[in-house]
Amino acid sequence: MARQWNFKQELVFCFGHHLADNPTQHMLEKAFRHHGMNWRYVNFELGNERLAEAVRAVRVLGFRGGNCTMPCKVTVIPHLDRLGQSAGLMEAVNCVVVDGEELVGENTDGKGFLQSLGEVSDPAGKRVTILGAGGAARAIAVETALAGASRITIVNRSPRRGRQLVELLRTRTEVEARFLPWEGDHALSEDTQILINATSIGMHPDAGARIPLRTDTLTPEMVVADVIANPPLTRLLQDAADRGCTVLDGLGMLVNQGVISFRYWTGQDPDSAVMRAALEEVFGG
Ligand code: NDP
Repeated sequence: MARQWNFKQELVFCFGHHLADNPTQHMLEKAFRHHGMNWRYVNFELGNERLAEAVRAVRVLGFRGGNCTMPCKVTVIPHLDRLGQSAGLMEAVNCVVVDGEELVGENTDGKGFLQSLGEVSDPAGKRVTILGAGGAARAIAVETALAGASRITIVNRSPRRGRQLVELLRTRTEVEARFLPWEGDHALSEDTQILINATSIGMHPDAGARIPLRTDTLTPEMVVADVIANPPLTRLLQDAADRGCTVLDGLGMLVNQGVISFRYWTGQDPDSAVMRAALEEVFGG
């Protein structure tokens, strides 16, 4: 009797620039293989010029979802049918989810961070300081506010960007938010409970770069998190660990945004250990 074959393959896309060394692709392909799923994660090097056509192709070709990275995180929005709550607040989409006939924009960056943070601390009722006001800071600030943080302090080099983020938090969430200009080495207020570096300082190839921060203001009661995944052990985390703080690396956030995206696309929970191991292969653990 002829053997039955099932070659049905499901596709997930990533749109953006500089995708040749996209660690998310490696991580998700490993997860699909580990779970015996005939799914592929395909990078499409794409700017904004042909984004509308590309999203139409997603619908026509039956992609099961995808990621958007720079420069498509904001510009993809008009081509989608609706946005999830936090993606709507942040006005940025990094994950496209197929819901019946609709394409829904979600943001899993901040959710991934929260999941990672949840392993060591519940942000509800906590005073949080975020260094930076770019895309990562925005995602983290909105999710942390929605999770019930009592106060969020934004410290940013560009006051305009910092104040914009504070304005968003004040007008669209319940959190008490304030902006502090970043002048010289920043001294943390004593009552800070969670510090998050959401700047790109310390990212490869500038590994080891020093964040302008008075490390003598770090105390052992604080949780210190970094968004930098490459390298996972940043100078900030090393300094914080030396001062007795609880530290959290950027790999956890990257893994968890992938875990949440995987769940959105497939309806299944992936093995996050397999995904973290895939990233450690790329970045070193
Ligand atoms: P953006 O370009 O949107 O923002 C960069 C931020 O860093 C801005 O606040 C910028 O300040 C600040 N900054 C950069 N250089 C300096 C400096 N020398 N001194 C002071 N501030 C500085 O980038 P993203 O927010 O998208 O990404 C930030 C980092 O987060 C990247 O390293 C990225 O890889 C990482 N990331 C990690 C994720 C993960 O899953 N682990 C997910 C997403 C991002 P200013 O406004 O003044 O320019």
